Parts: sequence; structure tokens; C-alpha cells
Amino acid sequence: MTVRTRIAPSPTGDPHVGTAYIALFNLCFARQHGGQFILRIEDTDQVRSTPESEQAILDSLRWLGLDWDEGPDKGGDFGPYRQSERKDIYVKYAQQLIDSGHAFHCYRTPEELDELRNARREAGGFAALKPSELKLSDDEVAKRKAAGMPYVIRMNVPEGEGPCPVDDMLRGTIELDWGQVDAQILLKSDGMPTYHLANVVDDHLMGITHVLRGEEWINSAPKHKLLYEYFGWDMPQLCHLPLLRNPDKSKLSKRKNPTSILYYKKMGYLPEALLNYLGRMGWSMPDESEKFSLQQMMDNFDVQRVSLGGPIFDVEKLSWLNSLW
Ligand code: GLU
Repeated sequence: MTVRTRIAPSPTGDPHVGTAYIALFNLCFARQHGGQFILRIEDTDQVRSTPESEQAILDSLRWLGLDWDEGPDKGGDFGPYRQSERKDIYVKYAQQLIDSGHAFHCYRTPEELDELRNARREAGGFAALKPSELKLSDDEVAKRKAAGMPYVIRMNVPEGEGPCPVDDMLRGTIELDWGQVDAQILLKSDGMPTYHLANVVDDHLMGITHVLRGEEWINSAPKHKLLYEYFGWDMPQLCHLPLLRNPDKSKLSKRKNPTSILYYKKMGYLPEALLNYLGRMGWSMPDESEKFSLQQMMDNFDVQRVSLGGPIFDVEKLSWLNSLW
């Protein structure tokens, strides 16, 4: 098996140091296993995605030397994979799930959804809406369809509650509950996929074997696990990396630490220093040296040594490291 990893940033703002951190870990993991590393731009949110943001992500990764290995042919060169160019693929797979009974057309109006959610809230427990609550009678569906009402495609999920274990390379088995998993929208009314469908379809089609991503995606794992099952595909191994934090342990925020890679580039930081600093977030070199190259990181990376304690990103520390060069 060839190891294949990826990063899948959404181009909705300035390129974040967190993206470089996740990219570095994916690149090192792939290289260490003689594998490949892929860049996929997840730009299905047409309102928030911008070409400027995409360009800034590409420039930042290149500046850092985090080069990806392949992409669609752009006439002698290759670009990143871009989900907005793959819409037909997702529509086809959404239809496949409809045909196999794993997804359904949902004609619920926003007002009805609000009512259902309020009823849920009053009843207490998990807020996730289940297929049985969302599905309308065949007659009602036919009526709304004939009236040309908009619909989305949602996935079927288990009704009720119950343990949903998810395996993680770093955390072992994560115990989640089916009760928190809602009948997720897969295809929006404008025909665009949501993150969940496009992400799973692409990880499969692109032969991704290991998904190293931020821990904020843990709650998506049950939905992804189900989608792999519905399609009859093997699921990549998951590894949810701890998020970068401010020195006071709060979630990394612009107010306390510059988070844009563009800032560090503009201020004259060396890409080697930023990479080195990000590499130290998750693991230390076996000989505890302070300064190491990308090649050394690729040679020594060991995902099992990544600490779950919430790595601290501190611009002061980075400045000190930068001065060592
Ligand atoms: N598009 C998601 C992001 O913006 C990708 C998450 C994943 O790696 O699955 O981070």
C-alpha cells in the first residue's frame, strides 16, 4: 500500500499557521513512508471562498517548501485539486446513495426545520434531527416536488442513541454517540455538496490512506464512517491532531498571536524558522536539538510522539527561534 496523505484547506481567509502545521505533519508522515502528499482546495462554499485566498494558500505553502506531489494537469504543470471543478462527481455519488436507500430528498422548509429543532430542544437530550423526523409522507413529497419546491439530499443515520466508536491513530478509540449525529445534508439545494460528502468522496477517489487533520473534525468522523460504509469503501486511518493554542491555552486567535502566514512572510521571518517552530508543536527531535531542517523532520517524524496536551504557539518564542538562523 502506498501511503497518501492530504491537506484540504478551505480558501475563506488568510492562510492560517494551523494549515501549515497540519500540512507539515501530513507531508512528513507521507515522506517517511515513501508516500505522496496532496493538496485539495475545498471551495464548495461559494459565498465564502475567494480566488485571492486560494492564491495566498498556494503561495504560503510554496514559501514554506511544503510542496505537494500531484494535481490535475494544467497544461504541463499541475494545480491543486479544486472541489468546485468536481461538482458532477459529487452529484453522481449523492444519487448513488439515494438509489441504495442511504439518502433521501428532503423538502422541509426552513420554518419547519426551526419548529423541529425547537421541539427537540424542549425535549432535552441531543439536538440532532433524525431521518424519521425529517421525512415527509410520499404524498407530501410528491406535492412539494410538483410545486417545484427546493430540496436537499440528506443522509440516513441511525435513529436514537448508542455508542459509536471511532478509531484514531493518536487517541485510540474515541467514544462518540449516534445521538449526536444528525441526518446531515450531503447535497445542497443549489447542487453543491457539503464538506462531508465531498471530503469522503475525494479522499476515496484520491486514494488517501491516512487523514491527519485538526481535532475540530472529530465530531464529523461518525458521519464519514457511515458514508464509507454506505459506499462500501475502506475508510482511511484517522488522526486528529491537537489544535494550536495561545500561551494562555485559549484557542489560537489573531488578537493574541498573529495567525496569518502572510504576516510572518511580510515581517521577514524565515520560512525555515516557522516550519521548525511548527514541527516542535507536536514532537521533539530525539536528541532534543533546537534547530532542525524539513529533511530532519521528515526523517524523524513519529506521530505517536505527538503530545495531546494542546501545543502552544507563541510569537515571542518564534521570534527567538528565528534569531538562531
Ligand atoms: N476543508 C476542511 C478544512 O477547512 C478540511 C478538514 C479535513 O481535513 O477533513 O480544514
